[in-house]
Amino acid sequence: MSLFVPMNLTCPACAEVFTYEAVGSVNADRRPDLRDEILQEQFQTVTCSACAHEFRLEPDFNYLDVGRGQWIAALPARALRDHLESGVEKQAVFNLSYGAQAPEAARAVGRSLQPRLVFGWPALREKLVLQEIGFDDVIWEVAKLDLLRSLPDAPLAEGVDLRLLGGGGDMLDLAWIRADSEEHLNDFQVSRALYDDIAATPGPWAAVQALLGASMFVDIQKLFMGAGEDAA
Ligand SMILES: [Zn+2]
Repeated sequence: MSLFVPMNLTCPACAEVFTYEAVGSVNADRRPDLRDEILQEQFQTVTCSACAHEFRLEPDFNYLDVGRGQWIAALPARALRDHLESGVEKQAVFNLSYGAQAPEAARAVGRSLQPRLVFGWPALREKLVLQEIGFDDVIWEVAKLDLLRSLPDAPLAEGVDLRLLGGGGDMLDLAWIRADSEEHLNDFQVSRALYDDIAATPGPWAAVQALLGASMFVDIQKLFMGAGEDAA
């Protein structure tokens, strides 16, 4: 089931204190409307009861969609630096809930689940988009690396992510997005062949593919941080 917890919030515009139902976990099988809200970039958007100012809570919850085979631990964008520790912690949560340490009935469900760890709303949304259009997320991150080689002026930096927004046809919609504010720095399109070519012949990318898929944190961001080099 989906779980919400009353939380006292302070409006950043007028300092009004009010109570909001903050999400603790999402069960998208039972609440497909919550999945829709994540895709529409509206989930956990708060409207101040006094001045109507809108702001969004940062993600800090577990997302489950058995039908689509997704289990995602979503954390705030600012927690990215701690991705190694968070990866260990969330893997343990998954193991207890659906993995080796879970009851057999839960393990049976867990075998169809792909556990993932994301930081920030754009990263979470991207995982839902990838599943929707049938892309393998490890191959997709490899495709990003390939794309970066041809984008010398890419604004890649800690906290600035390259994210797939959508694309069911020949073109893919991408954007450089600030992970915390969700501000788009640059929206652009690339041919779907970027992904299809690598998916067809992933051989040359085997080493980086293995590195990206080595933990539930499947994101090229980890390659551009100190810890990513240690993991290699
Ligand atoms: Zn307010």
